[in-house]
Amino acid sequence: MIVGGGVAGIEAGLALRDLAGDRVDLRLLSPSREFVYRPLTVREPFGFARARRYPTAAVAADLGAEWIEDSLAAVDPVARTVQCRTEPPIDFDAVLLVLGAQARPRYAHATTIDDRHLDELLHGVIQDVEAGYVNRLGFLIPARMAWPLPIYELALTISTRAYDSNVDMAFTIVTPEDTPLAIFGMEGSRAVAELLAERNIEVITSAYAEVPDSRTVEISPGERRLEFDRVIALPELEGPAVPGLPEAPDGFIPVDDHGQVRGLERVYAAGDATDFPVKHGGIAAQQADTAAAAIAALAGAPVEPQAFRPMVQGMLLTGERPVYLSAHLEGGHGSSSEVSREPPAQPPRKISAKYLSPYLDERELGERAS
Ligand SMILES: Cc1cc2nc3c(=O)[nH]c(=O)nc-3n(C[C@H](O)[C@H](O)[C@H](O)COP(=O)(O)OP(=O)(O)OC[C@H]3O[C@@H](n4cnc5c(N)ncnc54)[C@H](O)[C@@H]3O)c2cc1C
Repeated sequence: MIVGGGVAGIEAGLALRDLAGDRVDLRLLSPSREFVYRPLTVREPFGFARARRYPTAAVAADLGAEWIEDSLAAVDPVARTVQCRTEPPIDFDAVLLVLGAQARPRYAHATTIDDRHLDELLHGVIQDVEAGYVNRLGFLIPARMAWPLPIYELALTISTRAYDSNVDMAFTIVTPEDTPLAIFGMEGSRAVAELLAERNIEVITSAYAEVPDSRTVEISPGERRLEFDRVIALPELEGPAVPGLPEAPDGFIPVDDHGQVRGLERVYAAGDATDFPVKHGGIAAQQADTAAAAIAALAGAPVEPQAFRPMVQGMLLTGERPVYLSAHLEGGHGSSSEVSREPPAQPPRKISAKYLSPYLDERELGERAS
């Protein structure tokens, strides 16, 4: 039973089919009628096409899974059933919880990024930038960081628009990170810092912001007070707090190195819903692969489950050529960091995922051919 039809849910379904074949009967419980390729919503306010959407019914059919269009209400790990909002309880031999996280605005007086309608939220700001009506933009990352890339991508892309429109603007990013995009390690972070400096984007690191009114940002430590025309913020994320399961702080699901929910047999979790601190599609996919291998082994497939060894890969949109970043994550920091402004031989997708990326490529090729 896979609960959630996002990045980790589809990746896990594909991995299970590959590793366990017909040994598993798959069910996909998800209320979403489509899978949205969320990273590309960042381009929507700049006049690009909408991010791709893929119908859940078609994806479930490709996975050979039964799609149950409903939401999870609770898990009973002893009886091995999931309770749904409307459907009767469903038995499972193993369940993988991939419900994502809930995004909540941290600041009442800032515009909080919401990828369900980024165009609506930011199109007006970008028009005001191009017309020269706004001169100072602030970008805030709250203490509990959501996804690392989008705020940097918005700052960089808006700065390109301002430059192209001959508008002189001041941009400031306020972040609790020690260095910009610190998870991508020293090399990656240094390259991002240089790029931000080239674009005259000031970055205030190791800093916490408050927004007392829509034009003012107070920064601590240091008691600094900055004035902006508009303030754009990342949301904070909360875990799904599933009744019947143990809970880590802020409602996330605690998992071990194999994706098993701590203390519960045959119950697994992956992706943004878990207590792993880095929320990123590529990481969600690796967690899904790790859990899928453990479940495939339970189903009797000849698979040696491996512990989760996270590697973060990112394609940073800049308004010009993207920057490609990668690092191994060890002890909360990026190491063996790599950075390139040239696309790799096989151009990557925004979300780097072993099974999902080739699957979507193939699907799109098929659509174009037909
Ligand atoms: C603007 C933006 C830009 C990003 N850029 C990048 C990027 O460049 N690279 C990258 O790797 N990552 C990026 N990310 C992060 C990436 O999108 C997430 O980390 C990823 O989607 C997490 O996958 P997931 O499967 O855990 O959760 P999700 O993709 O959020 O999927 C959760 C699924 O669970 C379902 N669900 C929710 N509640 C229930 C319930 N009660 N019962 C059943 N199903 C439920 C949902 O409907 C959904 O199908 C970006 C995110 C955003 C918002």
